[in-house]
Amino acid sequence: MAKKIVTDLHVNGKKVLMRVDFNVPMKDGKITDENRIISALPTIKHVLDKGGRVIAFSHLGKVKDSSDLESKSMAPIAARLSELLGKPVTFINATRGTELEAAVANLKDGEIMMFQNTRFEDLEGKKESKNDPELGKYWASLGDLFINDAFGTAHRAHASNVGIASNIGEGNTAAGFLMEKEIKFIGGAVDAPERPLIAILGGAKVSDKIGVIENLLVKADKILIGGAMMFTFFKALGKNTGKSLVEEDKVELAKSLLEKSNGKIILPIDTVVSKEFSNDAPHSVVSVDSIPNDEMGLDIGPETVALFTKELASAKTVVWNGPMGVFEMANYAKGTIGVCEAIANLTNATTIIGGGDSAAAAISLGFADKFSHISTGGGASLEYLEGKKLPGVESISNK
Ligand code: ADP
Ligand code: MG
Repeated sequence: MAKKIVTDLHVNGKKVLMRVDFNVPMKDGKITDENRIISALPTIKHVLDKGGRVIAFSHLGKVKDSSDLESKSMAPIAARLSELLGKPVTFINATRGTELEAAVANLKDGEIMMFQNTRFEDLEGKKESKNDPELGKYWASLGDLFINDAFGTAHRAHASNVGIASNIGEGNTAAGFLMEKEIKFIGGAVDAPERPLIAILGGAKVSDKIGVIENLLVKADKILIGGAMMFTFFKALGKNTGKSLVEEDKVELAKSLLEKSNGKIILPIDTVVSKEFSNDAPHSVVSVDSIPNDEMGLDIGPETVALFTKELASAKTVVWNGPMGVFEMANYAKGTIGVCEAIANLTNATTIIGGGDSAAAAISLGFADKFSHISTGGGASLEYLEGKKLPGVESISNK
């Protein structure tokens, strides 16, 4: 069902509650990566330009006790938002109460305010994270409309997304532009992909990705597997995996996935091995049939990159989750770079990265603008790829 987006709502003169994802990394009170704030600007600017009164809010980290009140305050983020927008952002150091209500009442058309970290409501009884009915109702009472642009928390049913949406009134919730893009690309790839759909799965563990593999075994035309998870599959095939990372308790599962894959799963043919988990240790390329007992596989090898490149050439849709090797170390980043290059050369395909580390890898390796879409939500994109319904998305009004 198509969801309403911000352009479907008449925001002029309305109090617009806006759930953004300003859960940015901070160090000593300073923002170390403001990408999430930048990503929210189009939706905020659109509503302000149309004469809406924006009441923005987000969570920041986990809030466990009162020692978090200073380090998890949204105040520095509100200040940075103000600089980026070039207009004042009134910051209210509270998540409820008379000061907040007065600020909302004083807000004029085209003005913006922010209130404090929604998870400050977790201090007494996890009201935000457990979607306390009173809290969602209270926040909804502050506004006329609700825009949800926080894809990163869409896999959670919290008061600041689902709680507000279920209390703001029928038809009054819409996705922001960022959320819309996530739904369009990831939702589109899983639900109605242009074929062939080729999935690339890697990363650390099979166990993290079981749901994704199972869903994509049904939906995708091919699944290329790299990363540490390949060794659990090799073990399932009876190969020697040396000191490589293997999840012994997932070997049977890997076996059954291979059996029901109907040849859709394509495994690497060579791997880069080393005696140590270190960029400086000697390393070499070996066939996956001859991994030495005292070595571990840390990347896919060049023949595998060539094989994956050939497989990808015909793709119309590519979904990628999980790096091909230990890309954090330059000597084991070549597989991930090779796959990035293969995808960058596809001119006629929709290409999507979902997954925190894979997104970080593509960005840090210089391929950020080569993909159709790089998801902003690690956990949320993983659950979306598993075919799960995301409560944050579901709670947005239908068109
Ligand atoms: P994502 O966040 O994209 O879903 P994961 O969290 O599943 O990805 O996995 C990322 C991690 O997997 C990276 O830190 C990377 O170093 C590690 N990794 C990839 N290949 C290997 C390997 N062969 N051996 C050990 N670790 C690996
Ligand atoms: Mg990860």
